[in-house]
Amino acid sequence: MRTTQYLLSTQKETPSDALAISHQLMLKAGLIRKLAAGLYIWLPTGTRVLNKVVAIIHQAMRKVSAQEIQMPIVQPGSLWKSSKRWHDYGLELLRFQDRHNRDFVLGPTHEEVVTELIRHEINSYKQLPTLLYQIQIKFRDEIRPRFGVMRSREFMMKDAYSFHLEQTSLDQTYHQMHDAYCDILKTLQLNYRAVEADTGSIGGHISHEFHVLAESGEDSIAFNEHNTYAANVEKAETCSVLSIRKQPHLPLKQVMNLEINNINTFMQHFDISIENTIKTYIVKASDAIDSLLIALIVRADHTLNEIKAAHLPEVLTPLQLATSDEIQKQIGLHHTTLLGPVNLPIPCIVDHTVSHMSDFYAASTQPNQYYTGINWDRDAQYLRAVDCRQVLPGDKSPDNKGILSIQKGIEVGHIFQLGEKYSQALQAKAINQQGKLQPILMGCYGLGVTRLIAAAIEQNHDKNGIIWPESIAPFSVVIVGLNIDKSTDVKQAAQTLYDELQQHNIEVLLDDRQVSSGIKLADMDLIGVPHRIVISDKTLKKQEIEYKNRREKTVQYIPINTCLTFLLRQNITQCSQ
Ligand code: ATP
Ligand code: MG
Repeated sequence: MRTTQYLLSTQKETPSDALAISHQLMLKAGLIRKLAAGLYIWLPTGTRVLNKVVAIIHQAMRKVSAQEIQMPIVQPGSLWKSSKRWHDYGLELLRFQDRHNRDFVLGPTHEEVVTELIRHEINSYKQLPTLLYQIQIKFRDEIRPRFGVMRSREFMMKDAYSFHLEQTSLDQTYHQMHDAYCDILKTLQLNYRAVEADTGSIGGHISHEFHVLAESGEDSIAFNEHNTYAANVEKAETCSVLSIRKQPHLPLKQVMNLEINNINTFMQHFDISIENTIKTYIVKASDAIDSLLIALIVRADHTLNEIKAAHLPEVLTPLQLATSDEIQKQIGLHHTTLLGPVNLPIPCIVDHTVSHMSDFYAASTQPNQYYTGINWDRDAQYLRAVDCRQVLPGDKSPDNKGILSIQKGIEVGHIFQLGEKYSQALQAKAINQQGKLQPILMGCYGLGVTRLIAAAIEQNHDKNGIIWPESIAPFSVVIVGLNIDKSTDVKQAAQTLYDELQQHNIEVLLDDRQVSSGIKLADMDLIGVPHRIVISDKTLKKQEIEYKNRREKTVQYIPINTCLTFLLRQNITQCSQ
């Protein structure tokens, strides 16, 4: 490809509304253009990268014998009503009606459609297991589209779905897909972690997310130094930081008429550290207990993990904090986080660490009254001790192997064991080996194709632009001819090398524009082509060319007649066509 025939579309200015570095660089390097909020046009350079990522994914899917299909983006609302997600999915689901007033949605994901397909196509164990996938545009009406294609409204996803009659078969495919995702991320040369994850609104039991590590990530993931445990902080298990509950030393004492309005003055007044007190969250209770509200208590230096809390059967889902009116009515007090368990008229569930605390301090249910020397059993009771706090860096790894650290990650993939959730709702059943009709077990496997590209840039860039991993670079080599419009020697040498590289199926861009060398070199750094060759009259005099790897600082001079062999030795990608 020659730049004079190519829509290079690089731009110098950093767009002011682009916050993420990948968003800035994708605009500046001419990969994407915004059409409207969360909607992007992919320009030729972006499309080349996108096609490379797609090809890598197809290859990985072929390896696990996944079969490619294509499902419509427009989906009947009736299917979403059957699965109950018409209600549960919320406003991200874009709904509309056709001319006959029938409900439709723009597909944010395809569990319903694929289950409807399977309901008709599969009726016997002889047709199972089977694994289907597609690479396709999804639409989610995100409340705040941001960071370019990282969180857009329209984006490309690889979504796969597997179908089974036995759990062992689902486990096997799930592990194969897990490994396939690891292979894809390794081929993309990304630093990533596969982590245990919460299943969220999609349902099911077992789930893993794949995160590309980057400071700009919206998720936090916890992992130990041995890589034997990794989980999204939403899910990461915690243990008590106190090994045992000590015997009470202090008597329970009530302190009256003390006006304290925050935890710091509370600690100062009693001369205690934060580990000696607690933090209480009053939330709405579920029908499982005989109370409208329930208190969830963590140690004051810890934070409630709302996702873990929402999974407690005693707690109403989605988790809702009680209003001050409700607290007033049930407890007779305006909400205070220092509120303690003594004489609390609602049940309480405590975090494991809290269950090991003794002689602690907290507020009473009466205004301006406090208790010192609180001890469980003697002074107050709890319903259950559970894991309901947010993990912290330095916590013990739940598998007892080392210490956890926490890093930011960009979620690029998410896989789930859905079980029977969709097959029950949509009546997808098959006859098992015993001749009995049984709901089909499902797995689903999502990979954000366009988000992967933004994540790759977050991890691979410098102040001059993108530094593409070799496997997804829009071009492998760029030839910059200095003064190419004036020097016939430069023009000829550039053309010869260009032809030679093309014959070897190396994707090469020849920069033959009539612009300054400064602009050419800056543009090629910006779009991040891994290998750069500069040809000038000066180097040609010595029968040499100048070579620079985008990841390195220095240039090398290579005899022009060995240039091709030299490039081939740099592990250059040769495309297969
Ligand atoms: P997030 O928590 O980031 O919103 P999600 O849990 O909603 O993601 P899934 O429903 O599991 O995502 O979708 C599978 C993959 O699709 C995600 O791992 C992500 O890579 C990609 N994806 C999801 N939403 C978007 C979006 N708005 N823009 C770009 N990619 C997305
Ligand atoms: Mg989402």
